[in-house]
Amino acid sequence: MISHDTLHPESLMMSLGYKPHLSEGSIKCPIFMTSTFVFNTAEEGKRFFEVAYGLSAPKPDEELGLIYSRINNPNLEILEERLAAWDGTEGAATFISGMAAITTVFLEFLKPGDLLVYSEPLYGGTEHYINTYLPSIGVHTLAFRPGEEGDVLRQKIQESGYAERLAMIYTETPANPTGDLVDIEKCSRVAKALSKQDKKVILAVDNTYMGPLWQKPIKHGADISLYSATKYLGGHSDIIAGAVCASGEILQRIKVQRTFLGNMLSPFSAWLMMRSLETLALRMEKSASNAERVNAFLLNQAQVEKTYFLGNLKVGDKDYEVFKKQYTSTGGMISFDIKGGEKEAFSFLNKLKMIKLAVSLGGTESLIQHPQTMTHCSIPQELAEAINITPKLIRLSVGVEHPDDIIADLAQALAE
Ligand SMILES: *Cc1c(COP(=O)(O)O)cnc(C)c1O
Repeated sequence: MISHDTLHPESLMMSLGYKPHLSEGSIKCPIFMTSTFVFNTAEEGKRFFEVAYGLSAPKPDEELGLIYSRINNPNLEILEERLAAWDGTEGAATFISGMAAITTVFLEFLKPGDLLVYSEPLYGGTEHYINTYLPSIGVHTLAFRPGEEGDVLRQKIQESGYAERLAMIYTETPANPTGDLVDIEKCSRVAKALSKQDKKVILAVDNTYMGPLWQKPIKHGADISLYSATKYLGGHSDIIAGAVCASGEILQRIKVQRTFLGNMLSPFSAWLMMRSLETLALRMEKSASNAERVNAFLLNQAQVEKTYFLGNLKVGDKDYEVFKKQYTSTGGMISFDIKGGEKEAFSFLNKLKMIKLAVSLGGTESLIQHPQTMTHCSIPQELAEAINITPKLIRLSVGVEHPDDIIADLAQALAE
């Protein structure tokens, strides 16, 4: 018997958490399309509920029995064990969407009067929730920019007047679409310094862009690693899903909140995600190697002013040290400025033949879009300009097609 402790996540994705003998020897985990589970005895049912509702702590080695698919289901449990293997957490919780994962974390850890500190820009949906819903329930919010996460951040928190009620630091790195980096370790130092015995400041990181392969937020001091699993984890542009990786009481609290919001992933989507995870490393590595070639091509085009790509960072650049510390790849996302403005950008986008004009990212197919009028259209103009979201900016999620075909499509569309 091979020990799971010695295998890499790539090798664990085909077997971790699944026991074929419980499913007629089937090599693959079947889809458990069932709403409820039969108890062997009334005593067993009573015990399962005690553990599920936290009325009694599980004994060592006691697994939570299957009760009802809003509480637990084999497809979700196996998928969650596999996700946790990537981030090195005790477990994970999967959700019906990335936004469901993010808002569930907010609802569990933010109470009226609390302060949430967040880096900007964030994913548009997250930013919307922070700026509209959270203030309506009395949560104070305060933004900081990549590069401010040390002393500037501490000073901002002190000056806000709500330092005593700081409950969470929330960040997304690299920031979309131009790839500015946030130093997770520095955020973690601020969270620790401002934590109190009875109120731990939670550090949550949206790890959608570079995780789980190339960025490990937990290693740098984060408590929660969040995903839109719709992107690289799902990876085929066919499901909407979300995930949270965490440990201990934090994970437990998120799972209980999920039980009562009822926004867990469906067994069918969980099964598709399990299939996706078997090729996660292959897909992400291919996308990154394609992106390197595409970036080199774009840098040589007269119609392209500049590219935003982690591979462009050089010794001495402001983000270089954070990049070296926090990432193990330059990733599969490239943004670039085309010469001209919206007219030129749209004309280029409309000429593409193979690359799909669509939002989202991390799929097998290359996806391209115009942030200023699409994903980031609701960002206030002042902020948009400060973070280079201009009419000439284009964002490309590089897929796993043959790199020559991606480059040829870009070349024909760039040719006037
Ligand atoms: C897409 C995305 C989300 C939202 O996820 P959904 O699965 O669409 O709900 C959150 N964060 C980031 C960084 C994303 O790219």
